Amino acid sequence: ATETRALFMLFGATGDLAKRKLYPSIFNLYKKNYIDQKHFALIGTGRRKWSDQDLRNVILESIKDSAESEDQANEFASHFYYMSHDVTNPEHYRALSDYADKLEDKYATEGNRIFYISMAPNFFGTVAENLKSQNVLSDNGGFNRLIIEKPFGRDYQTAEELNNSLGKSFNEDQVYRIDHYLGKEMVQNIQALRFGNPLLESVWNNKFIKNIQITLSEKLGVEERAGYYDNSGALRDMVQNHIMQIVTILAMEEPVAFKDTDIRNEKIRALRSLRIYDKDEARENFVRGQYGAKGEQRDYRHEDDVPADSNTETYVAGKLMFDNQRWAGTPFYVRTGKMLADKFTRIDVVFKKPLIDVFDAGDKDKSGLDLDVLTLFVDPVQKVILHLNGKVPGQGFTTKGMDLTHVQSDEDRQNTPEPYERLIHDAIKGDATSFASWQEVARAWKLADVVRNLWDTEKPDFPNYTPGSMGPKAADDLLARDGNKWVFTL
Ligand code: NAD
Repeated sequence: ATETRALFMLFGATGDLAKRKLYPSIFNLYKKNYIDQKHFALIGTGRRKWSDQDLRNVILESIKDSAESEDQANEFASHFYYMSHDVTNPEHYRALSDYADKLEDKYATEGNRIFYISMAPNFFGTVAENLKSQNVLSDNGGFNRLIIEKPFGRDYQTAEELNNSLGKSFNEDQVYRIDHYLGKEMVQNIQALRFGNPLLESVWNNKFIKNIQITLSEKLGVEERAGYYDNSGALRDMVQNHIMQIVTILAMEEPVAFKDTDIRNEKIRALRSLRIYDKDEARENFVRGQYGAKGEQRDYRHEDDVPADSNTETYVAGKLMFDNQRWAGTPFYVRTGKMLADKFTRIDVVFKKPLIDVFDAGDKDKSGLDLDVLTLFVDPVQKVILHLNGKVPGQGFTTKGMDLTHVQSDEDRQNTPEPYERLIHDAIKGDATSFASWQEVARAWKLADVVRNLWDTEKPDFPNYTPGSMGPKAADDLLARDGNKWVFTL
């Protein structure tokens, strides 16, 4: 299997993401021999005037906790090379191309090239276009693949422009758009649970499911990212990408085979029946929030680098509908926010009660069946809980809720790769299952744009929620209107 041989080119090699996530992930793949230990090299580029040794020192620092020996760490680092590079200067790509040819010979990487753009998004298109026009792409039988960081555009139009510019150099099947939520174990588990268990898949529809809830809750505020965040907001930062991807996997039909192309087809098909709201519907079905002050905690508008009149949302809740046979009438509620009660991600699938409650013999106090709920805990602990009704032990006959619980073992947890490790490995294998395709991204922007356009033209009543809460009251009202409630409340 020579596909584990590859020459990597990393744009943004001096950056924060590279240090924190990419180098440790590449090292883990190297240790497991998922990257050929002899036949790989990486050229890192950045603005700084570093030497190879400067880059290698950074690598050594970022893998120091996981290296088994100094020799191993040094041997790994010796595969890394640095080029100071201005991404807007075509000449630099020609130098890069020459260097790549040389290293390709030296390491016998067989023409396999993986380009990873880990830079500010305004450079994504420039880099991709130059790779082709300045002949940095491999043309001797190996593969060319592009891994690209988020965000993918800031609305449909800019995403489409970016996609067109990538399209000048790469085909869709060569582009790997990172959404690290797709690399999370429990997100991948959705498909195992659904398509591996007729018990679940047979009730996975509007006849049995009352609603589905997705919560991405953050405990922290904006921290040092305020400059970026204030230009983005929760809708762009979390809903358009991560949340929409999770929703799509929950809503899709079973793929013909468990292959990236088949899975993408079904995800796209599901998204085609996602209801895209008009302005009034968007107002009705989406709630925004911005956190206020509490004790020591300043309100969002007084955070460093946030304008005092900022209308950026730090919280979003929304109701999504799929107009198809499987889901008509079953809402998908989503919410995400900063400064909430705790940091966690969970999916709650809420089932309907029986049409007739035989336990309720006219005595309301005796009955009160719980709603059955299947909860997938994505972060920080990975577990699955199926909440059912059972009998209260002892005399008489009353029911009460009981949980069937699976918690991931310590051993499983240790063997679970970080999302970045898994995703880079998939890209090396050429498996695009856990990456976002253009049509998925495009459809998600169509939905987000309607909401964004509405919010940009109407003045919000901010701040409207307290740090440590689960968001504004309007987010509870959104569900109450349908006779529903958030499963997780304080
Ligand atoms: P960073 O600012 O730390 O690094 C940027 C890199 O780009 C540096 O290596 C810098 O030298 C290089 N660069 C900038 N301008 C250049 C130019 N004109 N020519 C050549 N090189 C230039 O950024 P980061 O935090 O590492 O983020 C990189 C990407 O990853 C971004 O798209 C970001 O949205 C995404 N991302 C980052 C994180 C994170 O935790 N840091 C998480 C998710 C996604």
